[in-house]
Amino acid sequence: MESVLEDRARIGVPDAILLEDYLNESVFIDNLKKRYQQNIIYTYIGQVVISVNPYTDLGLYTEDCLEKYRNVNFYEVPPHVFAITENAYRSMVAETTDHCILISGESGAGKTEASKQVLRFLAATSLHRREMDRVRDRLLQSNPLLEAFGNAKTNRNDNSSRFGKYMDIEFNFKGDPVGGHILNYLLEKSRVVHQEEGERNFHIFYQLLAGAPDELLEKLHLQRDANNYFYLKQGESCTVDSVNDRADFEAVDHALDILSFTTEEQEAIWDVVGAILHLGNVAFKADDDGLARVKDETPIVNCSKLIGCDKDVLRKALTHRTIEARGDIVTSPLNPEQAVYARDALAKSVYERVFNWLVVRLNHSLESPESGRKTLLGILDIYGFEIFDKNGFEQFCINYCNEKLQQVFIELTLRSEQEEYYREGIEWEKVQYFDNKIICDLVEEKHKGIISLLDEECLRPGDATDLTFLNKMNSHLATHNHYFSYETSDNSKVKKTINKDEFRLRHYAGEVAYRVQGFLDKNNDLLFRDLKEAMTHTSNIIITSVFPKDEFSQKKRPVTAATQFKNSLAGLMTILMSKEPSYIRCIKPNDDKRSYYFDEERVSHQVKYLGLMENLRVRRAGFAYRRAYEIFLGRYKSVCPATWPKYNGPAKDGVMAIVQHLGYHPDDYRMGETKLFIRLPKTLFLTEDAFQK
Ligand code: ATP
Ligand code: MG
Repeated sequence: MESVLEDRARIGVPDAILLEDYLNESVFIDNLKKRYQQNIIYTYIGQVVISVNPYTDLGLYTEDCLEKYRNVNFYEVPPHVFAITENAYRSMVAETTDHCILISGESGAGKTEASKQVLRFLAATSLHRREMDRVRDRLLQSNPLLEAFGNAKTNRNDNSSRFGKYMDIEFNFKGDPVGGHILNYLLEKSRVVHQEEGERNFHIFYQLLAGAPDELLEKLHLQRDANNYFYLKQGESCTVDSVNDRADFEAVDHALDILSFTTEEQEAIWDVVGAILHLGNVAFKADDDGLARVKDETPIVNCSKLIGCDKDVLRKALTHRTIEARGDIVTSPLNPEQAVYARDALAKSVYERVFNWLVVRLNHSLESPESGRKTLLGILDIYGFEIFDKNGFEQFCINYCNEKLQQVFIELTLRSEQEEYYREGIEWEKVQYFDNKIICDLVEEKHKGIISLLDEECLRPGDATDLTFLNKMNSHLATHNHYFSYETSDNSKVKKTINKDEFRLRHYAGEVAYRVQGFLDKNNDLLFRDLKEAMTHTSNIIITSVFPKDEFSQKKRPVTAATQFKNSLAGLMTILMSKEPSYIRCIKPNDDKRSYYFDEERVSHQVKYLGLMENLRVRRAGFAYRRAYEIFLGRYKSVCPATWPKYNGPAKDGVMAIVQHLGYHPDDYRMGETKLFIRLPKTLFLTEDAFQK
């Protein structure tokens, strides 16, 4: 039999805790690489799975494979997302505790693929298969539907999720999945009206054009070629090699049926999707007074037909703005540029609200018919840390979200670690780590934080602009260690590298420069009242429900986008903190979507900001391995004459005999209440070698 040592040289170690030189990042990365080259994409740090995107089908998710991971112990099988899922599921059922699986990594690292496999594994856990088919199908079908509306081709990923998603799967006391619930976060709605070169709008538009039957397209007054639509062609890449829009349309159509969307609802969905495409083609020219006139009537006629509103009302709403000032209502005409702005604001707002409606409607389909207590297993697939060449409001929100998730990681990992030592009566030395709370506070603190300052500036009447917002931050945050800008920097060398219109934050994962352009506008997120009013008078059932009349009559100012996001994140934190976490950390091996290519530098960058070395250190500082006495005894009893071939005493005593027989150094292990704690992996490793001989 091949010894563990030889194995190790060839395929590395399955758990980074087993690495001798665990402080050394290159040893850690080398281990990942070795495994990757053998098509082994998964490696553990304790119970955290690291996954390196293979960009090719390695046959890791077959039915056989799924079965292999069912009802087995975490440590008896090679690392896999199924193993971590089974582990979470088993302890959820056994202890009736809620769990969550947190998936992180940058765009294209494989979060969504991992989340799908987790969901697939869970949906198939049902002990009473047949009765549960309905639930399972619905859970699974929620994916193609949400991906169609919320994912798009970007330059980083052909199927990039442009929204954050948290999904709870509900289980009854028997451990059968009985329902689900989805929370969605911050859809990148600017994509509806604009795409960078090489990128696309959300998949659904292209799917509809490519896959809809002729009659449907005719009814929607649409043409097959996506290049006819301004909102679709800006990225100049209407088709994507790896994406089959036609087949995906079929899948969405099927999903809508399975999720029991009514015919009327389905028609309303296609009407809205079509209406947005027509809206995007509404162009304006200037009349003699420089005011906006609609260039060509056809798109506006088609758009109003599809959503069932009066075309004159829509035209007027797109070209005028009504303001209520001190009781007076004043309507003024817009110039073409302002009209384009209004048109785009309407398209974004409609799309965003329809997306939210879809989630609500989906949740209704996923509602469990069973009453009684349920345990939950949550899956979080949310955007990773983003540093682009130009970073704006969206990146600011996304990176803030990652700071919060890092807080969860710190809290839950260290807390559970500490609690276990305490419970087992083991002494341990606390590891120093960087607590990023200071950065979270910088962003979110009441009155003083960046979001508060931004909101203040948005509320200030008169001359507030993005630059006055920057000035305000400069004067309030100049001395903060994690904030700096051109104004606040006194190092002339650094100053040279900073643009005057940006501020920089020292995130836990690295420094990011944000341009302030658009911050006020995006945060205000206001839709002109004329447009809102026009939307309250349509016959489309979705639009009617997402633009309620009472919202329009409300005088209160709506919550700003950043504050809304902050509040929904706070909600998410509460959910996550109340659950037992497991982690999947996804790594992207290269920037070319290429299989079998491991770019060490790219990986090193991710290892740093995912905090993997820190994670490893924390895990190693105390006792790297812990095993329940029964399990340890069960596996290794054959190595010691006192426990082999027959042993009937208490498990703890048996383990003590084995440990003494193998000559463990007293420093290397501790006997806890129910578990054996082993400090260095080497010890376990030698034990394993003794066992295999
Ligand atoms: P984003 O943040 O942009 O949504 P992501 O982390 O969700 O990115 P995925 O969409 O899951 O990334 O993965 C990107 C692509 O990589 C997939 O479309 C697929 O082609 C490939 N991929 C990811 N994980 C795997 C895997 N485990 N096996 C094979 N291919 C994979
Ligand atoms: Mg994704």
